[in-house]
Amino acid sequence: MMKRIVAGVDIGNSSTEVAIARIEGEQIQFLSQHLVKTTGVKGTTHNVRGIQFALQEAAKQAGLDVEEIDLIRLNDAVPVIGDLAMDLISETIITESSMIGHNPDTPGGAGLGVGTTILIDQLFDAAEKGQGYITVIPKSFDYEWVAHRLNQAETEGISITGAIVQKDDGVLIHNRLHKKIPIVDEVSLIEKVPLFKLAAVEVALPGHVIRTLSNPYGLSTVFQLDPDQTIQIALVAKALVGNRSAVVIRTPQGEVVERKIEAGRMILIGPRSHMEVSVNDGAESIMNTYEKIGTLQDVRGETGTNVGGMFNGLRQDLAQLTGQSPNEITISDFLAVDAVIPTSISGSMAGELSMESGVALASMVKTDKVPIQRVASLLEEEIGIAVEVGGVEAEMAIRGALTTPGTRKPIVILDMGGGSTDAAMMDGAEKTVSTHLAGAGDMVTMLINSELALGDKDVAEKIKKYPLGKVLSLFHMQLEDGTILFSETPFPPYTFGKVVIREEKEFTPLSIRSSMEKIREIRRSAKRRVFVTNALRALKRIIPTGNLKHLSFVVMVGGSALDFEIPQMLTEELGKYGIVAGFANIRGTEGPRNAVATGLVLSSVKYGVTK
Ligand code: ADP
Ligand code: MG
Repeated sequence: MMKRIVAGVDIGNSSTEVAIARIEGEQIQFLSQHLVKTTGVKGTTHNVRGIQFALQEAAKQAGLDVEEIDLIRLNDAVPVIGDLAMDLISETIITESSMIGHNPDTPGGAGLGVGTTILIDQLFDAAEKGQGYITVIPKSFDYEWVAHRLNQAETEGISITGAIVQKDDGVLIHNRLHKKIPIVDEVSLIEKVPLFKLAAVEVALPGHVIRTLSNPYGLSTVFQLDPDQTIQIALVAKALVGNRSAVVIRTPQGEVVERKIEAGRMILIGPRSHMEVSVNDGAESIMNTYEKIGTLQDVRGETGTNVGGMFNGLRQDLAQLTGQSPNEITISDFLAVDAVIPTSISGSMAGELSMESGVALASMVKTDKVPIQRVASLLEEEIGIAVEVGGVEAEMAIRGALTTPGTRKPIVILDMGGGSTDAAMMDGAEKTVSTHLAGAGDMVTMLINSELALGDKDVAEKIKKYPLGKVLSLFHMQLEDGTILFSETPFPPYTFGKVVIREEKEFTPLSIRSSMEKIREIRRSAKRRVFVTNALRALKRIIPTGNLKHLSFVVMVGGSALDFEIPQMLTEELGKYGIVAGFANIRGTEGPRNAVATGLVLSSVKYGVTK
């Protein structure tokens, strides 16, 4: 019987996966597999480079030369491409420089001080006896000199009640003072602090948070405000909640304005009707409207509003990616989730951010059929091996998933990738239906990046993938579940006291100050918002009756099924409907990876191409 070597190649938005097998009659022996990052946009000839690399690597593992491969089967990639965007619903603007609220590592002293702001070098010229002063200390002044001046002022009867310092000198100054005062340091934009204005400085003891300046009535007491002024300043108090140190400066014109950005309306276009929903109503209401419209033909955002801008941006991006013109682009699916977006506070003096509510949108467009044939021809030309375009991606993924021990038809797969969540069902007669939904792993990463104000996608991606720990001592680390891990070898000194990402072999310390609990909470909630929502959406679409009770096996495949939390979340959620849901173990060995590539190899036998 003829022996052949067949390679299955799955080109995804994020990864290109390969499986190599030896086929003899109906006997299939898998030899190796490999995964590389997809080169270029899926379905373009840029993919060839990545494919070649993956084939070389897999062939090497199988002990073969690439030339020994007889046939390469490519997936007929799904012609959908996704994109992400997010924007604010409303924004709070505090006009006039009126507050500093931050957590420097080491502020000085503790307590509350109220007084008039004055520059350190103007103390003896401008200060009056019997009045309280808050000294403002720019970075050009040395802490020894500053402490000396403050002590001298005190002996001369000038009352110093607090200090605002630009450098990280709070403790150094504090240690040298005869009369102790609260000191807020690391105020980068100290030149913005208004002078000769009434101000209050509050510093809490280590491990505590400020109590007075974060309480509207505390502020009204300090500044002797009437009820109307108290209403205005309440937003300042809110912004300071949870800080260890803060400064509030009353500028007479200072007022707080809440500016509602016109978030705008979304117009959902269905086969029979149009429906509108205001983005201000939040993600749930947007998704409910979507459910009412049923099949989506396109979405538009009200022009001149935030959401209008968002959808135009998406259309532009997608047009560029697919080489179509923006008005040819129709959005075939979207997912809206509530999100928190960091926004810099105008008037802040230490780079404070306020966390505002917003919406994140993933959307997806159907392109013309992906010209995968072009990729196949180029690949064939470059490596001189026969290349054919195999079956439909969803069907290949199911064939691969069915190699998971303990599964059978009828079966549903959830392919959870980077840009999209694809679902497909194969019934007993091998009839398949499939659907493609916007929103997957990349959206989770975007939410984590935004809600922790990381400004670093790579760190966000790591936070998504690995659990956290907090290094308590050189040998102790607290884990997420509260248990303490003892290490035989000391942790690196730069991790001390930090929340770290516990990657397989190393720890990455985080520079943000959020607690481990807070980071974990945001991570898990981001995963839930995207994947639980999408799993339910997907299943409702592919179950003809929409009734999830008619389903028994759901198998998760794709990169996001490798996640250490997402599959459990879905097992739990779908368990409520009596569904057995878990991540795949392709060929009993590969976990949730390699489903499509494996399916491509398997189907080569079924279709008789190798006989
Ligand atoms: P595609 O089929 O679209 O190319 P993949 O199936 O390769 O996509 O999935 C890519 C997604 O999987 C990315 O969002 C990536 O962050 C995520 N991913 C990969 N490995 C892991 C992991 N170990 N834990 C969680 N997510 C992961
Ligand atoms: Mg994929």
